[in-house]
Amino acid sequence: MSFGFGDNNFEFVGGDDGRTFYFAVRQDHLIDSDFRYRYHEPRVDYSGKNGNKTTFFTNSEYFAEKIRLPSEYFGKYMAGRLSCPYSFDKDKNCITFKGEYSLPDIKNYFFEFVKNYVICQPCDYPECTLRLDDRKNLIKHCESCGLNHQVNFKSNDKAFQFIERELKKK
Ligand SMILES: [Zn+2]
Repeated sequence: MSFGFGDNNFEFVGGDDGRTFYFAVRQDHLIDSDFRYRYHEPRVDYSGKNGNKTTFFTNSEYFAEKIRLPSEYFGKYMAGRLSCPYSFDKDKNCITFKGEYSLPDIKNYFFEFVKNYVICQPCDYPECTLRLDDRKNLIKHCESCGLNHQVNFKSNDKAFQFIERELKKK
């Protein structure tokens, strides 16, 4: 059983290699067992007592490397969607969220970030890099097909302005 996503929904799709996390939206990619952009699933761990738990996204840095963006970017995005503080745990080398959140929630919000910021819509490959254009609009540039898309601000996106500020520093 592989793990894939439809448009913002979880869908289980066929596969033969255990549980796999597809960075894709298109159905033909989600059922393609040779699709290049299949990774380990996100993993979570918990610490703390009831009422004071912390959720660890234990392989956040694995994904940061895959999408070539700091985990702070998706950490802020996910914390905004979970409505909780975010931080980075140096010992465990991963991002954490204050509170107890299920693996499906962590996957769902992480994938929302990937879909908004990393996956190119026409080609459906997670090959986008982020930049600002001449008018300081946040643009994702697809390294695969070369298209530029503007990333639009959504009110529930707590990472957007942070990412803009980070890109302005460059
Ligand atoms: Zn593309």
